Amino acid sequence: MANQATLILIKPDGLKKSLTGNILTRLSETKLEIVAAKIATVSRELAEEHYRHLKDKPFFSDLIKYLRGELHNRRKVMALVYWGEDAIKKCRQLAGSTNPEEAESTSIRGSYGRITTSGVYENVIHVSSEDKEAEREIKLWFHPDEIIVNLYPTKEAVEKEKKIKVWA
Ligand code: UDP
Ligand code: MG
Repeated sequence: MANQATLILIKPDGLKKSLTGNILTRLSETKLEIVAAKIATVSRELAEEHYRHLKDKPFFSDLIKYLRGELHNRRKVMALVYWGEDAIKKCRQLAGSTNPEEAESTSIRGSYGRITTSGVYENVIHVSSEDKEAEREIKLWFHPDEIIVNLYPTKEAVEKEKKIKVWA
């Protein structure tokens, strides 16, 4: 199996429960390389685009609230790209099943996830599920220059008259 990339999100419940260190330690068992990492606030557009495959589900609006941190008063996620051999399978295995009640009890989701009364699975971590999805998601969450390896083809572009923030 060739090198592969996967997006990982530590979701707002993971941050609120102070699980960041714990989750990163678990993921380090994979021996994969972290090639990008940041704390990000999640706009409605980003959340809806990220979970667009679920937009017809009855729990979609709660899911968007969840990812945006509205259920945990933590308006941020930690986003990372892990890279290496068989990255998706290795990370999904450690994460466990989507439904935390069905996830193996020793997995990340089995250990720390829960199902809320509204029915949303609060499962503390997101892992891409296959190559194409990983590419779509990584391009959604990161600019090319935030990733320290060349994962996907890039092109040069000139941004004109764009206002940016600098240190005062
Ligand atoms: N989800 C949920 N109820 C469901 C299915 C999914 O609350 O019946 C949530 C859950 O947080 C999950 C996310 O929607 O992680 C994305 O669902 P997907 O089927 O892509 O599962 P994943 O790839 O995260 O395991
Ligand atoms: Mg998925």
